[in-house]
Amino acid sequence: MRVRLRNRFVVVCAAMALALASYAGKNALVRAGQAKLSAYGQIDRKRLLAADQHPEDWLTTGRDFGKGHYSPLAQVNRETVSRLGLAWDYHTHTDRGLEATPIVVDGVMYTSGVAGRVYALDGKTGKELWTFDPQNDLSVTRRSCCDEVNRGVAVWKGKVYTASLDGRLFALDAATGAVLWKVDTVVDHQRGYTSTGAPEIAGRVVAIGNGGAEYDARGYVSAYDLDTGKFAWRFFTVPGSASGPYENPELEVAAKTWDPKSRWDMGGGGTVWDGMVYDPELNLLYFGTGNGTFFDQSKRSPAGGDNLFIASILAINPDTGRLVWHYQEVPGEQWDYDVVQPLVLTDLKIGGSIRKVMMQASKDGFFYIFDRKTGQLLSAEKFVPVTWADHIDLKTGRPVEAANARDFRNSFNGKKYVEPSVMGGHNWHAMAWDAQRGLMYIPEIENGQTGIFSGKAILRAWDPIRSKHVWELEPTDWWDRAGVLATAGGLVFQGNGTGHFCAYDAATGKKLKDIDVGTTIMAAPMTYSVDGVQYVAVMAAWGGGGWSMAHPASAAYIYGNEGRLLVFKLDGGPTPKPEPLPPLGPIPQPPALTASPEAVNHGKDLFAANCSRCHTNDERSLALNLRRMPPEIHEAFQQVVLGGMLKNAGMPPWEGVLSPKEVADIHAYLISISWDAYKAQQAAKP
Ligand code: CA
Repeated sequence: MRVRLRNRFVVVCAAMALALASYAGKNALVRAGQAKLSAYGQIDRKRLLAADQHPEDWLTTGRDFGKGHYSPLAQVNRETVSRLGLAWDYHTHTDRGLEATPIVVDGVMYTSGVAGRVYALDGKTGKELWTFDPQNDLSVTRRSCCDEVNRGVAVWKGKVYTASLDGRLFALDAATGAVLWKVDTVVDHQRGYTSTGAPEIAGRVVAIGNGGAEYDARGYVSAYDLDTGKFAWRFFTVPGSASGPYENPELEVAAKTWDPKSRWDMGGGGTVWDGMVYDPELNLLYFGTGNGTFFDQSKRSPAGGDNLFIASILAINPDTGRLVWHYQEVPGEQWDYDVVQPLVLTDLKIGGSIRKVMMQASKDGFFYIFDRKTGQLLSAEKFVPVTWADHIDLKTGRPVEAANARDFRNSFNGKKYVEPSVMGGHNWHAMAWDAQRGLMYIPEIENGQTGIFSGKAILRAWDPIRSKHVWELEPTDWWDRAGVLATAGGLVFQGNGTGHFCAYDAATGKKLKDIDVGTTIMAAPMTYSVDGVQYVAVMAAWGGGGWSMAHPASAAYIYGNEGRLLVFKLDGGPTPKPEPLPPLGPIPQPPALTASPEAVNHGKDLFAANCSRCHTNDERSLALNLRRMPPEIHEAFQQVVLGGMLKNAGMPPWEGVLSPKEVADIHAYLISISWDAYKAQQAAKP
């Protein structure tokens, strides 16, 4: 009998059988002498394997161990969804991106927010039970490529696990949020490591990776004892040099696929920043690895080679940390084709027999199906336009690259862009697997032809057996590619950048419900039930890669970007929208420009290298348009940049990276462009 403890959110068990089960489970635990066991967050192996029998819970970021982002709940369905309204919302009081999918167990919701904050909420009312702020070393944001996001927590046997942006892993008491243990997972804080993915429970350990292959990180996954946080193992995905030491024995083989003269000082990349999944049936931990560093292989490993294990999928025995199988999707990768997109585990009938498979809609534009026990590649077909490779040869398992595809990263033959571009055909945003219909709903991107930060985002239903799309929505702009939820109610849910939360008919893609919430949505929705009522929840706020460059039509530009958790139910109420941002006032008169033209030019280069990733200086950029600095910021410029005076507003301290003279030159450049903008404004006045 499944152990299920009563708590105050399971107020009345309508079914007597369930009440008896709860009572028996509690007594069994008392008999076992586990009196201290928390009633919160009680997910274990047995319960995870029985997830389909208890659709009221959502036990992992993707609901079950296969992480298909599909729920058997059907109270909200094609007939009833028109009655969907707001049950409750919760404000995170942050203004950066939210990418996590919440977990719900026994009516309690656990989810993560900016930089690894954690929220525990009553799933029925939204009442806050506890929150946790990991108190990041904010200097880490100087080297985080893609905002301060976090893609979720793991919950297991009374503990909630979260990774902070600066790379610490925490185990929290699911009842109180108290820190039970914490470890620093970063091997070298001088390098560009950040942690944004959800930790993964794998047997007796919790595993976590990191990002940073856009800088100088050397990828690895670390694993720690679930109860104590004791270090268990670390698997480096790329060698640190041609001649060792090989921290894990697999690296000796991997090193032979790199030029001995590789730029080892750049770390090699292959970071595991998302997409880990554990298979309790086979006791295998799967994860994909990121791009190589540098992107350009001729700079990274001048003599070429496959550069294992970048852009690969690895299967690890979590008891030992040893590699069981691997498959490299993009040998010698050089187009920023990370392979960390979500991995979905399911059983699929292929060629007359049921296979245990793993599916991925990869950034490289191919939809892969593997036998997840052996790693055998069963299928690899293009789901978006792809020009870097003609096809994947199933016999050799290798892509057949297009001629000249390596000459350029983003342009192809000097005219055409390589497809997909660095944004990928599909990125971290969850896809949803509907086993009943045999359809994968994928938030796809087609953007190679027109370059980065342009192109189209399209939600499409993909049949992985026939390797074809069954339906698709109207394309929208590139940034509109939020995660997806599918349900047995015949519905597919997805939010969008303009702040609309929508439900579509899973069979046809017809829009059945559209709620204007006024907050940009990127994260995947999820669903659960409490006391017989089905809820649909989604986290909302713009961010991630290109976070400061929200689309001019986005809700973030119109209403600002305060984070919210939105939870809907049938016959709920209207969704309150944030107040629109006030119109921009006049550009204030900047201080006199006293620096030399040389200083201004030097400052311009420094700004481009250090500041421009966030400060695009567009009028409505989410990072302050520095042409609009008020006099008090000009006066305190050195303290703001070096001393971290505005670190709580998201501006990290640059002490030790930039000198006071360099900051003065950056300031001179900003005063210069502020005067240009100010003069243009004054000249335009009637
Ligand atoms: Ca990347």
